[in-house]
Amino acid sequence: MRKKIVAGNWKMNLDYNEGMALFSEIANMVKDEITGSQQAVICSPFIHLNSLVQLAKGYDKIAVGAQNAHQNESGAYTGEISAKMVKSTGAEYVILGHSERRQYFGEDNQLLAKKTDTALANGLKPIFCIGETLEEREAEQHFDIIKTQLQEGVFHLSTEQFAQVVLAYEPVWAIGTGKTASAEQAQEIHAFFREEIANNYNQEVADNTTILYGGSCNPRNAAELFAQADIDGGLIGGASLKSRDFLDIVK
Ligand code: PGA
Repeated sequence: MRKKIVAGNWKMNLDYNEGMALFSEIANMVKDEITGSQQAVICSPFIHLNSLVQLAKGYDKIAVGAQNAHQNESGAYTGEISAKMVKSTGAEYVILGHSERRQYFGEDNQLLAKKTDTALANGLKPIFCIGETLEEREAEQHFDIIKTQLQEGVFHLSTEQFAQVVLAYEPVWAIGTGKTASAEQAQEIHAFFREEIANNYNQEVADNTTILYGGSCNPRNAAELFAQADIDGGLIGGASLKSRDFLDIVK
């Protein structure tokens, strides 16, 4: 059975002490709510990772992830962080392909394919984000865009590698805007993801892939979204910065 995940994406928020405090609060609140094949993941800025991993040791269903890692193994890339460094903190996941990385840092599908390879080679599980912009949806190009992002970003992976990947459907028009995709809109795309995975790999691989929804997910819409057949949890931005909201989403 595929894993159900609620992942928080803290983005560039919370200083070191604020991050420690929020993590402890969240971990204590959600620990009894997560059972079986469910997991919570907190994706923090790099500076928190190692300490959060230490805190997370008391909670077997709560994992830690980064929000980015470099495509190269090491070298003269001032200011960058490698996948090996992230892994050495004890972090388990890394978000790749987030629309903010694509938009503000010029990350394209080819670069993201490399980042995915490097993350996997270093034992990190990518949470790979895919989604269309408002213009692309209005021009009815969303299926094509999503298909291309899947094909160029992750479909070169072997079946074994792909089994380590979590996908996230994040319509760009829904991120941080308060505008959520309706449960039907999201389910339609998630079913399309699974169909494409089955076409590229096989049905079993498709059935085992965790596909998260992200974009203005909150305590009011999470239950309906997560009740959809192909939605296996969420990637939560704004609402992951409030312990109560994060708890209610997990519930
Ligand atoms: P949001 O962000 O929940 O604040 O819309 C989601 C994300 O960017 O992962």
